[in-house]
Amino acid sequence: MPPTTPALAEKLGGLQSSVIRDLLKLTARAEVISLAGGLPDADLMPRERIAEAAENALAGSACLQYTESPGWGPLRAVLAERESARLGRPVGSDEVFVTHGSQQALSLLAEVLLDPGALVVVEDPAYVGALQVFRAAGARIIALPMDSEGMRVDLLAELLASGERPTAVHTVSNFHNPGGVTMSSARRRALAELADAHGFWVIEDDPYGELWFDRPAPEPVATYSRNVIRLSSSSKIIAPTLRTGWMIAPPNVFRGVELLKQGADLCGSALTQQIAADLLSDESWLAAHIATVCNAYGTRAKALVHALRDRFGDRLVCTDATGGMFVWADFTDGTDAESLLPHALDAGVAYVPGYAFAATTGHQNSMRLCFTNSDPATLAVAVDRLAGAVDGQSTQL
Ligand code: PMP
Repeated sequence: MPPTTPALAEKLGGLQSSVIRDLLKLTARAEVISLAGGLPDADLMPRERIAEAAENALAGSACLQYTESPGWGPLRAVLAERESARLGRPVGSDEVFVTHGSQQALSLLAEVLLDPGALVVVEDPAYVGALQVFRAAGARIIALPMDSEGMRVDLLAELLASGERPTAVHTVSNFHNPGGVTMSSARRRALAELADAHGFWVIEDDPYGELWFDRPAPEPVATYSRNVIRLSSSSKIIAPTLRTGWMIAPPNVFRGVELLKQGADLCGSALTQQIAADLLSDESWLAAHIATVCNAYGTRAKALVHALRDRFGDRLVCTDATGGMFVWADFTDGTDAESLLPHALDAGVAYVPGYAFAATTGHQNSMRLCFTNSDPATLAVAVDRLAGAVDGQSTQL
C-alpha cells in the first residue's frame, strides 16, 4: 500500500511566494543593474562600529544567554527614550516590545489582533510583507488608494460610513514602501480620529521615518491616538542583520504579543540586542551615521528622479523621493510594466512591476524602483537601459 501523505494546514492554500523574492533570483546576474530589491546599501552599514559593539557585548557572558521575551532591558530603555522624543510624551520601557525585525511585529500582531475573516485595511499599493502576514491570518483585505498625501483617509471614512468595521488599518506613514509618499499631518490626524471614533487599531509601520532628505517626517500617527500601535526598526538605519525591530503598544496588545513571542522563539538574540543598544545609545555617532546614509540616498534619489523625468518626459510620472528607499513610477503611455520586465532584464535593468504590490489586481503600468544600491552615474545608465527597453518593445509591436 502506498503511504498516505498527510495534508498541510488549509490556510497555506491561498498563499503565494512574494513576487519580489522570486524576482530577486532573476536579477542576481552581475550585468543587470537591479533597482528591484528593497535592500539598504551594505557598503554604508557601520561594520567597524558593529564589530566594536560586538566586542563590548562579548566582554561579558550575558549576551550569550536567553534574554527576556519583550527584549533586553537596557535596549528597551534606549528605545523608550528615542520614542519619547519622537512621540512628544514620556514612553515607558514597559511599552516597548523588541521584535525580530518589524516583520515579526507584523506577524505577531496579526495573530494577536485578527480572527479569521477580520477586515484589515491596507494601502494600495501595499507593503508586500504586510499583505503576506494578513493573508496568512485569513483576514479580509481592502486596499485604499494613496495620493501625494498618502492614504485616502476620506475613502476610509466612506468605508466606515457604509458599515464596514475594520479590525486594523495598516499604514506605512513615512516614505512609503512601495509608494514613495508620506502621509500628510492632516491625514494623520483624521486617521487617528477615525480610529478613536470607531475603535479600530492602526498599525503604523515606520521603518523609514529617519531616512529623510529634504525635511523631517511629520509627527507619528501615534502622537494622536492610543489606538495606534507603532512599529519601527534598526534595519534601514543600521543593518537588517541585527533583526532588531520594536513596537510601542498598549498593555493588552503588549501582553498578547508577549505570550505569542514566547511560543514563536522564546526571545530575540541577546547579542544583537546588546549591539543595537550600544549603537542606538551612542547619540552623536548615530546622528552622524544616519546623516551620512541620508546624504548618500538623497543624492541617489535625486539622480534617479532627474534621469527618469529627463529621459521619459510626460510618458512617465514618478514620486519626488523625499526620503526612504523607493521611487514609484507610472507609465502614462500605456506601457505595461509586467510585460516590459523581460525586455528590461535583457537590456540589463531590473525593477519590481507594480502588480506585485496589489492586494488584488492593478498597477499594471507602474513599477517600484529602489535607488539605494547604485551611484548616480549607474542610475542614469539604468534609466537609459529602461528607456531602450520601452522603445525596443514599442517598435516590436
Ligand atoms: N515594514 C516595511 C514597510 C518594510 O519595508 C520592511 C522591510 N522591507 C519591514 C516592515 C520589515 O523590516 P525589518 O523586519 O527588517 O525590520
